[in-house]
Formats: sequence, structure tokens, C-alpha cells
Amino acid sequence: MSQINQSGWKPGTPMAAKDAGAHPTVTGNKALMLEEPLIFEIGDSDTYGVDLAETHTDLPSRMGDFARKSDIGLPGLSEPQTIRHYTRLSRQNYGIDLGLFPLGSCTMKHNPRLNEKVARMPGFLDVHPMQPIDTVQGALGVIDELAHWLIELTGMQSVAMSPKAGAHGELCGILCIRAALEARGDARKVVLVPESAHGTNPATAAFAGYTTEDIPANADGRVDLEALKARLGPDVAAVMITNPNTCGLFERDMKAISDAVHEAGGLVYCDGANFNAIMGRVRPGDLGVDAMHINLHKTFSTPHGGGGPGSGPVVLSEALAPFAPLPFVDKDADGNLHIVEEETVGEEHGSSFGRMTAFHGQMGMFTRALTYILSHGADGLRQAAGDAVLNANYVLRRLDDVLHAPFGASGPCMHEALFGDEGFAEGLSTLDLAKGLIDEGFHPMTMYFPLVVHGAMLIEPTETESKDGIDQFVMSMRSLAERAKEGDEALKTAPHHAPRARLDEAQAARKPRLVWTAQSE
Ligand SMILES: *Cc1c(COP(=O)(O)O)cnc(C)c1O
Repeated sequence: MSQINQSGWKPGTPMAAKDAGAHPTVTGNKALMLEEPLIFEIGDSDTYGVDLAETHTDLPSRMGDFARKSDIGLPGLSEPQTIRHYTRLSRQNYGIDLGLFPLGSCTMKHNPRLNEKVARMPGFLDVHPMQPIDTVQGALGVIDELAHWLIELTGMQSVAMSPKAGAHGELCGILCIRAALEARGDARKVVLVPESAHGTNPATAAFAGYTTEDIPANADGRVDLEALKARLGPDVAAVMITNPNTCGLFERDMKAISDAVHEAGGLVYCDGANFNAIMGRVRPGDLGVDAMHINLHKTFSTPHGGGGPGSGPVVLSEALAPFAPLPFVDKDADGNLHIVEEETVGEEHGSSFGRMTAFHGQMGMFTRALTYILSHGADGLRQAAGDAVLNANYVLRRLDDVLHAPFGASGPCMHEALFGDEGFAEGLSTLDLAKGLIDEGFHPMTMYFPLVVHGAMLIEPTETESKDGIDQFVMSMRSLAERAKEGDEALKTAPHHAPRARLDEAQAARKPRLVWTAQSE
């Protein structure tokens, strides 16, 4: 088999001579930053990483028509070649273990290694969802105890543990709301979503079959309460409010909003992905919320963003608890834990809207999140929220003289600081500044979101950054802001020091080329 090199690389030749700049190297490498071809280009089908025993070709195949008819075409590499390939690729990436990761709304905080140690204990690591129930009492105990903490921290009635990420949790909450409305014979069709809500909120409502309508933000970046009240009526099923919202601000009128929605016969969904900023300080249950998802992978430090799966438990009010999805963990009178499924569901949960997942949730995330909670304690969680808010306000005030802070005058922010591109020189944009940040050795912030701010830059430092680390980031940002305002042409072609410069991002997202096509001779 010979292969067409899709990256243009041929064995034994420099990888990227055309980018090598003024001092080209014969390898295409830049100092210790190594170039790397595709694995299909390094390996070939005649090489094996291991010695395979002779295959017994005389045995009859039981695959029938399903048996493979041609060569599978996987590249063969030795173990050191394989390890180097993936290690080189990993060095071209950026992660929370390398440095500050200011991606607003994503809560890229440090993932404590204690969590990893606990998640790798064999009783958790090797557990299978179909094991006999008396062999998994400890694992179910973790789910039950975590559920208890989430209920306590939010002041809600119950929690659905199975949703697998934030947006999945939103869908779970909206399906609970739909089931509750249908149960009272009230088929409302509209979900109101303020401009300050996360983008997943209207997507979720639409996915669940609702029509969504915008509610404008007021001049200080919060829901316009009067506009919301004016739109409420018998066709409104729910409002979905992100709190703290995507401008990094606390929705102070939350209780008044909930009261008005309830009075009009609707229900209140709160997007709680930003719970990191308020845990231990505010209980959504006290604000009249009916359903709220919590991102364990943000607030409770389980790895995410290419580093691991998410988990999005949904806390529910008394009005919605009976409609929670199956399966869930429950305790009998003797204290034994069991799993409630369709066959075993009793009267009190008979109105469940159905099932969102095959099993009862993300065990690895549950163990990590509970470890985080227990190692912090209630006071530690409260402190973490306070430190996250303090760090964000430090960033806001260290930058608001060089960058436009649209809501800077309306008081402190919560866990993230929001800036806009006002004052940038003609032809320079938020994207250019973000690319410049890569040259400075930082992952860019969240860009062009929220939509209410032109050229938005949303920066969330999180509580796990040191003051020194934030000061270094601030220094880079100040320099980049000045360059953007002065019209520094070099920013337009940044990054200059990264392995790759400006990729066609729209093309990469819309038409990713994920399949290697080998050409046989
Ligand atoms: C991250 C986030 C979500 C979506 O969570 P996923 O786990 O990525 O699905 C929803 N809302 C807000 C405010 C978020 O920050």
C-alpha cells in the first residue's frame, strides 16, 4: 500500500520548511517545538508494534458476510514511534495544566489530583452499571451522597443525576417542565429566553419543540424585568434564565422574575452552569427556580474540554420532582440503595417523563465531584466562589482603563469580566487580539459572546490562579489592547510563534476532514 500524503509531507523531508522563517532548519522543527506528520504518514502496513502469533487460517470464519474483505489499512508503528507521535501532538496543544485558561463561561479551573486518585480506586474505576446491586452499594452511595450535597447547596427538592452535560441537563429540565404542564392539560408553546442567556438555552427550548422569544437586556446587562412581565401570558411555558448571566452579572431580580412567571402559570428554568460564582452564597431554591442544571465539570472541577466527559445533574423544585427521568438511585427503609427503573417505578414517581440515558450517569465525574466537595467542605466551597469573583474583579479593574468594559460602571462582576472592542483601530478586531494572546502563551478568552456586546471578550480567570499568574496575563492583555488601539499591523497575522498560524476556522468547523484515505497501488 502506498499513501498519498495529505499534509504534503514525505518521509525523510522537512515538515514545514515554508513556515520556518528567517532561519530555516532542515527538519522543519522550531527549537524544541517538533513538527508532526499524520500517523498514517509515519506508519506503514508492513510494520507491527508487537509480535503477533501465527493466525490459524484453517479455522472456519464465523463472520459470514460480515468478514472483512480487504486490508484494514491501519498504520503499523513501533511503541516508541507511537508514544512520540502522541506526545508531540500533545505539546502543540494547550491545557489547564500548562497555564491560565481564561475561557469565559467554561470555568477552566485546576482539576485537583486527589479527585483523580479517588476516581481510580478499583471499586469505582472498574464498576459496571449492570453489576448485581449488592456489589455496588458503595458506588451508589457516592451518587446518593453527591445528590444530597447538590440538593443542600441549591435548596431544591430533588435532583436528576443522569444528564451527561450542561446542555443535556437543560433538555432534561425542559422535558420535566413540559411533562408537568401536560399533566395539568396545559399545552403552552413559548419559552422566553433573555438576551443575557447562554446560547444553549434557546437551542434546548427549540429542540424540545418550543417557540423561543427574546427578552431584551437592560442598560446594565441584566434581564429587563418590565419587558419580561409584559410578555408573560397563558402561552408562556417557561423562562430560561442564566444566572449569573453571560455578561458575568448576577440577575438581581431573579425572585421577582420567578414570582411573575409563576403567577402567569409558567415555570422557571435557571441555567446554573455558572454556579461556581455563587455556591455556598445563594440557593436557587430560595429564588423560586423550578429546574437548574449544574455542570459538575465546571463548578466541581472535573476535567473537560477534550479532557474528559461532562456531567449535568438537574436540581428540581417540588413542582417538577415527580417528573424526573429514570433511572435513579433510591434508598429503601433498611438503608439499602437500589436503582429505580421502568419496571420498578412506584406510584410516587409514576409521572417520570422517561429516560435520557442508558444508565444512571457519569460515575467517574460523580466520584471526582464528590471528592472535590468533601475535600473543600461547605466553607471551602463558599470560599472558592468568593475567590473566583475576587479574581474576575481584579482582572476587570486592571484592564478597564485600556479596554472598554461595557458594564464596568454598574458595579462589580461575578466570576467573569466582560470587555468589548470599542476603541480598536480600523481593521483590527477581537479575533486579532485573541490570536496575539496565543503568541503570549495563553489560550484565548471566549470571543464574540455574549452577543449584546460588540466584539465581546469574556474572561474567566477562576479561583485557582495565583495573583502572579493573573498579573502576567494582565500584562499581556494590556500590551495587546494598546497594540489593537494603535493599529499594529503585525496583530493581523498573529500568531507568529505557534506551530500553525491562521487556519480557516469556518471551514475547519463546517467541513472537517476526519477520514484518512489511503490509496492502494
Ligand atoms: C458551559 C455552559 C453550558 C453548556 O454546558 P455543556 O456541558 O457544555 O453542555 C450552558 N450554559 C452555560 C452558562 C455554560 O457556561
